Order: sequence, then C-alpha cells, then structure tokens
Amino acid sequence: MDNFIDENYINSLLNEKFSETETQAVLEKAAKFEGLTPKEVAALLTTDNPAHLTQIFEIAAKIKQHIYGDRIVLFAPLYISDYCVNNCLYCGFNCCKTEQTRHKLTQTQVKQEVEMLVKMGHKRIALEAGEDSQNCPLDYVLDCIDTIYKMKFDNGEIRRVNVNIAALDVADFVKLKNANIGTYLLFQETYHKPTYEKFHKGGPKKDYIYHLNTFDRAMEAQIEDVGAGALFGLFDYRFEVLALMLHNEHLESRFNVGFHTISVPRIRAEEGTSPYPYAVTDDDFLRLTAILRIAVPFTGLIVSTRETAEMRKQLINIGISQISAGSSTAVGGYSGIDNFEQFSTADHRAARDIIYWLMEEKTLPSFCTACYRQGRSGDRFMELAKTGEIKNVCLPNGLLTLKEYAIDYGDEKFNTLADSLIAEKINDISNETVRNSIAEKLKQLENGKRDIFI
Ligand code: SF4
Ligand code: SF4
Repeated sequence: MDNFIDENYINSLLNEKFSETETQAVLEKAAKFEGLTPKEVAALLTTDNPAHLTQIFEIAAKIKQHIYGDRIVLFAPLYISDYCVNNCLYCGFNCCKTEQTRHKLTQTQVKQEVEMLVKMGHKRIALEAGEDSQNCPLDYVLDCIDTIYKMKFDNGEIRRVNVNIAALDVADFVKLKNANIGTYLLFQETYHKPTYEKFHKGGPKKDYIYHLNTFDRAMEAQIEDVGAGALFGLFDYRFEVLALMLHNEHLESRFNVGFHTISVPRIRAEEGTSPYPYAVTDDDFLRLTAILRIAVPFTGLIVSTRETAEMRKQLINIGISQISAGSSTAVGGYSGIDNFEQFSTADHRAARDIIYWLMEEKTLPSFCTACYRQGRSGDRFMELAKTGEIKNVCLPNGLLTLKEYAIDYGDEKFNTLADSLIAEKINDISNETVRNSIAEKLKQLENGKRDIFI
C-alpha cells in the first residue's frame, strides 16, 4: 500500500511564491476548462490578489454553467446503522458516545424509511453506516441494498444506491459491486497524517494508509465510480485541496479514471475554533469550492444540508452539481425511529420546498439516475464528460425526471412552474431530433409511462 500523499511536496507548493504573471497564466488556462495541475492549483490557493479571486469565482461560475448548465441533481442520505467501533472525534456516532442507544434498521424498518424517501420524490440515495463488523456486517448492508432496490411504489422507487460505508478489502468490494451500487463514497476526512492520527483515536479507521488506499481496492474490484471528500476544517483547507488533487492523479494514473465526485463537508468557523483551529470561514469555503470546480471541471461536486440554504445557493452558482434535500442524519430519522444524528444540519427545508426553490431560481431539479443504468460509468463516463457530450443527456434526463416528479407529486401551482421551466429549458437542447424525441417522451410520461431516460 502506498502513501501517495507527499506532504513535503504539498508544503513546498504552498510555500512557493507565484508571480502575478504566473498566476494570471494559470487563470487563463483555467478559463479553457481543461483542469489544472496541483502546482497550478497551489497558485490559486495562495494568491491574495483580489482581482485573481474575482476571476477564480467568475471562471468557476462559467465552468459550472458550460459543463453542468442550470441543473442540480438531488439525493438524500439513508442511515441504516449507527453502531461504530471507531473513535473519530468529530463524529456523533463515535464509539465513545456510550450514553447513546445504537440502532440498526430491520429490513421492515428499511422499507419504512424507503417509503418515506420515495414519498419525498427521491430516486437516488446515499446509504450510510458506521463501521462494526459484528453489529453491521457487510451481508447486512447487502441485504439492505437488495431490499431498497426491490421496493416499488405507484409513484416511484429508489433507482440508484450510492454507498458510504467503511473501507473494505477487495473480496468484499466485489460483493458490493455485485449488489449493483452506484458510487462508492469514502472521505479521507483529512489527508494530513499527523492530524488524521490526532482525530482518529481508535478502531480500524485509525490506519491512515489502509484508509487512503481504499479506492485502489474498490477499483481493483471493478467499482468504477468512487466519490471522495475531506472534512474541511480538520486541517488547513489548502493542504486538503492539494491532497485531493494528488489522490485523484494517483487513481487516474493507476486506473485511468479519477474521482467521480468530491464532497465538501466542512466544520464552519462560526461553530467555534476549539478543537478546530482550522475551521473554515464562509469566504474560504466558497474559494475552495470554486478552485475545486476549476481544477477538476468534470468531477461532480456535492454539498449536503450541513450548509445553510443561503450558502448552498452561492455554492451552486460556483460549481456544486449535487445537493441533498430533506435529509435526516439519524438512523430511522425519516420515519421517526430515532433522532440521534451523526451531525446536525443547517438547511432544514423539506425536499419539496428545496425543489420549488430551485425552480424559482430557474435551476432544473434533476432526479436523474441514468448513467450507471446505461453503463456510462468509470472511464466511459469521463470520456463523455471531457468531450462535453454528457450535457446532451443530463439536460434531457433532468427534464424527464422533473416532469415525472410533477405528475406524481405536484399540485397545480407546482406543475405550472415545472411546466414553464421545462418549456423554457427544452429549447436549450440544440439537436432538433433529440428535442423532438424528448417532447414525445414528456407526453409519454403524461400518459402514464414512468422511468424514461436516455
Ligand atoms: Fe464511525 Fe464513520 Fe463516525 Fe468515524 S465518521 S465514528 S467511522 S460513523
Ligand atoms: Fe448524472 Fe448521467 Fe444523469 Fe447526467 S445523465 S445527471 S451525469 S446520471
């Protein structure tokens, strides 16, 4: 197992003095939407020139618009177990919180939770569980995934289960792959090894190198889409951004495909600096998100309800492409089984209100799950993303899923707004044949057909 996060190299990049001309050249390259090298990313992370900062936000917004358009993919977390043998100091589920009664959903309770999520209109979930091979073994997780995929309702079903569970070995990743998961998600939390060791006091997760090499094992097991993240605020956010770049490069060089997504959870500066002296201010958080958008233009960026509605609005403009909506971070939180949360959320709006709000902002709420069901994953997905062709399927699929949602969940006011947004956005499909075909498919949805995607 490798440690491909070269701390000295990252520090040398952060200490490098970039001239105005050098940073301007990086910005010019960034404006071509080609992505950046770690050294170029360092130039953007270290500049204190306000004009450069303005350009960073402008370029990030242009990339967001050009590659992703006015479209946001929605999902919700589903916590199935809060048993955990690890002692991650920042987490509500850590094993030292002995005053809490732990829960693991029965399959009947999984069904109840899924029913609640489908009632909200969700089609895509991130399945979450703490690490505990006794109380939450992989076979139990696989049973839950099977239960979720088998549940069908008149107005929908969960069509993509992304999975955020503890690091596995290759043999277990093969089992997870065979369960037909979407993306395997795992956050390194912090890439700075001394800080990692400070915040991970016990349990298997305290092994930095084993955790760091988890995506290698997942990819060896043919899991093609992996979603990374750091808990920004455990250490210097600039170090974490550069380390994410090195991790991405490592996967690209070994497997020819990097991160499918990057999530950006953070410890907010206003939550108090102790024990988090590196807690991230709003300004820095916006900056790091914009820089990630520029650095890896084709990697989805995800923000959760940990952030406020106002902050999420700003983040969407500069690069976020996926958000959670109506989330509970407790096991059984949707059906009232428990309210013991992994972390507290700041955007408490119901999923429906978030969907309505997006439409009022002229943003297309999308429940699309088409790619992995069409075999567009891994390097095949990245090829489409890098040539810009992916947008030719994202927009049509977004329109189809919004129409389906409106028919199944909307009232008159909602449907008027949805139909007018769809009528406006369908004109953005430049290919006339595709446009006509989508208009036909929208009619098929009105006539009772469901789950249409391209
Ligand atoms: Fe357990 Fe995950 Fe929380 Fe760590 S972050 S204590 S592994 S649930
Ligand atoms: Fe995501 Fe693919 Fe759907 Fe686009 S078409 S929103 S990339 S699943």
